[in-house]
Amino acid sequence: MANAKTEQMAVKAILGGTFNPPHQGHIGAALSAADKLGIQDVYLMPCKLPPHKSVDVTQAHRVNMIALCCEHNQRLKQELIELSLPSPSYTVKTLRELRKSNSDTICFFIGADSLYNLDKWYEWQQLLDYCHLVVMRRDDEVFSPPSSVSSWLNEHVATDSNVIYKLSHGKVLLVETPLFPISSTELRASLSSNASSDVQLRSDTNINVSNWVSNPVLEYIKENQLYKS
Ligand code: ATP
Repeated sequence: MANAKTEQMAVKAILGGTFNPPHQGHIGAALSAADKLGIQDVYLMPCKLPPHKSVDVTQAHRVNMIALCCEHNQRLKQELIELSLPSPSYTVKTLRELRKSNSDTICFFIGADSLYNLDKWYEWQQLLDYCHLVVMRRDDEVFSPPSSVSSWLNEHVATDSNVIYKLSHGKVLLVETPLFPISSTELRASLSSNASSDVQLRSDTNINVSNWVSNPVLEYIKENQLYKS
């Protein structure tokens, strides 16, 4: 059962991901969710990439790109704990480790697509033993998880967002964040198809990379020749 406390609790917001590369979908959605919950800082927490997901971008590059995001937005911080844990990355194990060293309530942010696949995550039903889950919109639809997740969700969903300041863990908040229709996959495809030129417009999808990736990160990508096919 969640641990109820009378005084207002300190809350640490964490967005885990591959950040390959980090984009405005990650940052805009997470900051908007944080605003709605009254949270100042959002910690970006890169995971290790499984070997089969390798796209020639080292962990160091992903960390450097996250560092650039944080340098240019004071509300963003880095949380690198997952990189020091044994492979592969499992969110539940990371949260368990974070709990050991941290007394703050953890709000773990995920996109709606992650919620819909949550039952594929390692020990997914234990996630709420360590955190609240904050779900950000990823598409135009109202939140509509598959049946494998929906009864669990109904059991744990909270309607009052102040719950994060009263309970240390155990709730799911569905937050109506603005839509940011972008993914790292699309950006990698776009960057790789335009790797040889300065033009960031990909004609078949009309993705303008510079609309979604901050200038410092885009410069870093160019300097280090990342995502070239
Ligand atoms: P990829 O396309 O490589 O799978 P991604 O763009 O989905 O990557 P991740 O780093 O895997 O990004 O995502 C980390 C977290 O951020 C996930 O919970 C994901 O759902 C969420 N997220 C990613 N992009 C968005 C977005 N545009 N809007 C809201 N949430 C997002």
